Amino acid sequence: MGKPTGFMEFEREVPIDNGPLLRIAHWQEFSIPLTEEKLQQQGARCMDCGIPFCHTGKIISGMAAGCPVNNLIPEWNDLVYRGQWREALDRLHKTNNFPEFTGRVCPAPCEGSCTVGLNGSPVTIKNIEKSIIDRGFAEGWVVPNPPKTRTGKKVAVVGSGPSGLAAAAQLNQAGHTVTVYERADRPGGLLMYGIPNMKLDKKYVQRRVELLAAEGVTFVTGTEIGKDLPASKLKEENDAVVLCGGATLGRDLKIEGRELKGIHLAMEFLSKNTKSLLDSGHQDGAFISAEGKHVVVIGGGDTGTDCVGTSIRHKCASVTQFEIMPKPPEKRQPNNPWPEWPKVLKVDYGQEEAAAVQGEDPRKYMISTKKFVGDENGHVKELHTVLIEWKKDDQGRFVPVEVPGSEQVYPAQLVLLAMGFLGPENPVLEQLGVERDERSNAKAAYGRFATNVEGVFAAGDMRRGQSLVVWAINEGREAAREVDRYLMGSSNLP
Ligand SMILES: Cc1cc2nc3c(=O)[nH]c(=O)nc-3n(C[C@H](O)[C@H](O)[C@H](O)COP(=O)(O)OP(=O)(O)OC[C@H]3O[C@@H](n4cnc5c(N)ncnc54)[C@H](O)[C@@H]3O)c2cc1C
Ligand code: SF4
Repeated sequence: MGKPTGFMEFEREVPIDNGPLLRIAHWQEFSIPLTEEKLQQQGARCMDCGIPFCHTGKIISGMAAGCPVNNLIPEWNDLVYRGQWREALDRLHKTNNFPEFTGRVCPAPCEGSCTVGLNGSPVTIKNIEKSIIDRGFAEGWVVPNPPKTRTGKKVAVVGSGPSGLAAAAQLNQAGHTVTVYERADRPGGLLMYGIPNMKLDKKYVQRRVELLAAEGVTFVTGTEIGKDLPASKLKEENDAVVLCGGATLGRDLKIEGRELKGIHLAMEFLSKNTKSLLDSGHQDGAFISAEGKHVVVIGGGDTGTDCVGTSIRHKCASVTQFEIMPKPPEKRQPNNPWPEWPKVLKVDYGQEEAAAVQGEDPRKYMISTKKFVGDENGHVKELHTVLIEWKKDDQGRFVPVEVPGSEQVYPAQLVLLAMGFLGPENPVLEQLGVERDERSNAKAAYGRFATNVEGVFAAGDMRRGQSLVVWAINEGREAAREVDRYLMGSSNLP
């Protein structure tokens, strides 16, 4: 597969991004695609390693190693190298319903497990995936493909994020009549109202939703199951229900001053920003503006990074990102060997942009906020912080310990809390009587996806907790197979 000597002849090349100072002037995606010749060379770097870990999708040391949807990576690398793009697209769609999403936003655990990466730079798998599907759409190869026959069975999917969309796509292909219910005004889940437009242009989400609709899936938006429509009615009117409602209950920071104005959960900031952008190009003013403000983002993960990139585009006065953990190492450590997910320092787009504007990376490590202080109008004006160290307690667990004398004050008129998510946030589970696991997610075993309630299944973040788009697609597909088996006695779905 690929060219046997490709990895020796060609260096890894990723698309060049528009420079940070250029791209922060807009909300569009900013990577410049590689030429076809360069893409073929990158495909040629796949080395016919014999035992490709890139497509295994195993959990090793608690992290995904390899592709969670088991994309047939060496096969499509080879096809791209040979210029057989149409075949590459067919091979890609065998395992992944939405490569245009993962090719843009996946953190690419496949690349962390690529054999070339053992002592060199891994194959640019994610970019090849994106190039295949973008080419497929550009050539007009991706067209609606409705099922030939219908089974007469009805399935309701609650939630239209990547897990709900994948479940709907698969169940529809199996011939069932599928309705997707979404409480937001647009389908897509966090693809639409979580991940910002510059990372994933919403026209691509809409395009895929329209394809699914053309294949026969019905979308009902602006309808929250459990509130606007009782969950019991949904159950009565359908042969099966798949719960894909996500896990968007944000972790709060209940310290002194939390009630002050100007302190928001990250999701409120991000979702309002995208809605206003899509509704009116920000003309309606229906978003939380960071313009001219000193912004502090509490949380060093992807959600925090999206808050940084969004604040910079609003033209904030400054943005600082707090992380409670230590700064990761530049290179893999001995306790984090290949093919594990590499726990190394990454400079994502938001940090790159903040550094270009402010002259330095916005992240501060091992810092903890003690209290928020407000002005005379009840609006936040500063954060009081301490530095911490991670030390082992009596039972050998690492705990944060404050560093004496390390108190600091950060001015801030906008504080964004991006400290992760606690679980699903909605009444549909209670109404249906679905049991929860110890982390409050819907209880359903991976592989079976059946909850304790007959005919009710759960997939994606609602079942596994806040995770990744690629895992949501994996769960939606696999849950669909189980639902099909439940309805028909057996299933031909992959
Ligand atoms: C800001 C942010 C950035 C992220 N960036 C990335 C990234 O770059 N790469 C990556 O791989 N992952 C990223 N993630 C994680 C990823 O988006 C999620 O893991 C993924 O979207 C989960 O898919 P899902 O379908 O399970 O749920 P969701 O995408 O959360 O979709 C659930 C949907 O269900 C709807 N819903 C819930 N309850 C009801 C109800 N009762 N009735 C009707 N509708 C309901 C919700 O409105 C929502 O639209 C990010 C997450 C966030 C928050
Ligand atoms: S979906 Fe993610 S892990 Fe799988 S091939 Fe694409 S980038 Fe890699």
